[in-house]
Amino acid sequence: MQQKSLTIALAGNPNSGKTTLFNNITGTRQKVGNWPGVTVEKKEGIIHKHGYNLKIIDLPGTYSLTPFSIEEIVARNFILEECPDVVIDIIDSSNLERSLYLATQLRELDCCKVLFALNMADLARSRGIQIDADKLSELLDVPVVFTIGNKNQGIDILLKKAIELGESNAVVPQSRRVKYSQDIEHSIAQLQNFIEEKKNNIFLYNTRWAAIKLLEDDKIIKERILQKVGNSGHEILQQAQLQRKYLIDRFNDDPEIVMTDERYGFIVGIIKEVMTTSTRQRVDISRNIDLILTNRFLGFPIFIFFIWAMFQMTFSLGAYPMQWIDSGINLFSASLDGLLPNSLLKNLLLDGIVAGVGSVIIFLPNILILFFCIAIFEDTGYMARAAFLMDKIMHLIGLHGKSFIPMLMGFGCNVPAIMATRTLESEKDRILTILITPFMSCSAKLPIYIILAGTFFSAKAGTVIFAIYFIGILTAILSGRLFRSTLLKGVDAPFVMELPPYRVPMIKSLLIHMWDRSKMFLKKMGGVILIGSIIIWTLSAFPRNITYSTDYESQIKKVKANYLTEFTTGNENTKDSIEKKRDAAISKILMAQKAEKIEKSYMGKIGKAFEPLFSPIGIDWRGSVALLSGFVAKEIVVSTLGILYATEAEVESDALKKALLASNMTSSAALSMMVFVILYLPCLATVSTIRRETGSLKWTLFSMGYSTLIAWGVAFLIYQGCRMMGLG
Ligand code: GDP
Ligand code: MG
Repeated sequence: MQQKSLTIALAGNPNSGKTTLFNNITGTRQKVGNWPGVTVEKKEGIIHKHGYNLKIIDLPGTYSLTPFSIEEIVARNFILEECPDVVIDIIDSSNLERSLYLATQLRELDCCKVLFALNMADLARSRGIQIDADKLSELLDVPVVFTIGNKNQGIDILLKKAIELGESNAVVPQSRRVKYSQDIEHSIAQLQNFIEEKKNNIFLYNTRWAAIKLLEDDKIIKERILQKVGNSGHEILQQAQLQRKYLIDRFNDDPEIVMTDERYGFIVGIIKEVMTTSTRQRVDISRNIDLILTNRFLGFPIFIFFIWAMFQMTFSLGAYPMQWIDSGINLFSASLDGLLPNSLLKNLLLDGIVAGVGSVIIFLPNILILFFCIAIFEDTGYMARAAFLMDKIMHLIGLHGKSFIPMLMGFGCNVPAIMATRTLESEKDRILTILITPFMSCSAKLPIYIILAGTFFSAKAGTVIFAIYFIGILTAILSGRLFRSTLLKGVDAPFVMELPPYRVPMIKSLLIHMWDRSKMFLKKMGGVILIGSIIIWTLSAFPRNITYSTDYESQIKKVKANYLTEFTTGNENTKDSIEKKRDAAISKILMAQKAEKIEKSYMGKIGKAFEPLFSPIGIDWRGSVALLSGFVAKEIVVSTLGILYATEAEVESDALKKALLASNMTSSAALSMMVFVILYLPCLATVSTIRRETGSLKWTLFSMGYSTLIAWGVAFLIYQGCRMMGLG
């Protein structure tokens, strides 16, 4: 028997529990991708229930359907153009007033059947909020179901009602909806009639809604009308202009603002009808917490403390599993070493792949912890407070506090950070934030600072690293100002900082959020790193037949011969020390040989070719190669330095420190290198994320070029400045 199908879309405010409900409904049968053309996450799943094929779509979270942000445009377009059979609006019952704005807009849209899920029913109850669902259902003429998403309650009823609604012949458009004041209703009616006349039967939308949008001067709808209706489209737009002018005269304000106010008035009315709050439990916990956490004097120090604690956790707690993984990798490569016969393939496997990929996997614990902390900030509602606190400072750059969230995440990894800019409403704000986020030093760069600062500024290493981070932040701020006043001029979009209520986070949702981000990180980095390691290794291992400047073989033979004579003539007690002396001499020769081999490899040649570019900032050919390899992933810089200085490629091994000290690198060169590292070209994964999120090759190239030029310039000033002051 052919099964019947229904498409059900889930709409709702961010954090209203959409994804929770979606996951509960679809279980594991879900597909995650992006909406065609834009990078807003699209989740869909198909399930078979009650004799139906149900296609469930998790729409992006939005507060309204006015096209300010990509999320809003996507959600609206989906409903308008794909016409799902049923739209379920997930309402946060503990926050009814805010949720109803979207709900009333959905009712106004009137192009599909709508059903309300009053989610977070438990939270509402515990706050003493009572909602009269029958009354709400009657007032807005929609079915209403209570649900508790995280406890899987009410979901079956919700689905049944959705199917029932989908199959019913409820009329769309329905009659009960937002009513505006007389003047506005008059203009709506006039324009609606005009559209009806001119639409040539090819009009897509509900005409009342189209009239409202035209009065609001909605650009997308205007464009659509021109596309679809052709010449009469122009007439419609002209008529809309006339009506708008009339309304502006009447109200001395933008019709959009007047209508928004009236909608809120309508909502306040509904709230009065359907919601009662028991006074005893009125004490709003969130407000009390906010008295401290967003306090004018305390808020900022507390915030700095949380950030400090986050980094502290990330690095100190991460150190233990890091050691375990490290010894695991060492064990693995030692056993491979024993198992495989000597060959080029073995070298590739051990020195290239295991060493390269291993150097990234080591950072997994840090990344998990960092993302776990960020998930806590988000799920408790503190992240919004952080944005609120930073709002003033961000205005210096011409951005909102909201942009601060991606920048903060940039300290972890720029890939999810840049993806987090999706929450920004204005396109220009997004691009600006994307351009400056890479100056936030990501965690992968930290090992480089640890090595360089530890080696050359041992006593003051902490301060130096802090200064490096500071240079990054300062560059971000200055660049932000520069872009705001040149390339990305714009007015701040009207915007209210949402302060959602505090919530005790659920451990399961924290883990899911953490894993979602880390998984993406692993997947992207894993692939790129694997390929990068193979390339770096290949470049350092070829060409094979090098003519060495010295005959290392015969040197070794000589050492061995010396040893034999010493050994046979020496006494029993000195044998150990003679053996040690021999091994030290041989390894010294082998290191010299390895160093020369690398210098003559393709990698050495590339480094030498780039040396003229880097020598003004105090970096020799080895540093050049390391920095170039950092394009693949910043973690590789340290392991490349390890390979080039002919030592073990271990992050904190003393061998690399000794080799660096013995080399001709000076402390001002080390400083210059660190500055260059924090500012230059982001890694490949970040670049491809920038490409995807800006949707523009131009901005991607600009970001790469700009950061590298700035890096070179600042490093030059610092290096030459230090030298002029005689600082080595
Ligand atoms: P989305 O942004 O709309 O997708 O929201 P999520 O599904 O990510 O949910 C946000 C948070 O609310 C998560 O921590 C959920 O566990 C929690 N949550 C979802 N539904 C309920 C509910 O009915 N009651 C309570 N107390 N929490 C819920
Ligand atoms: Mg979600």
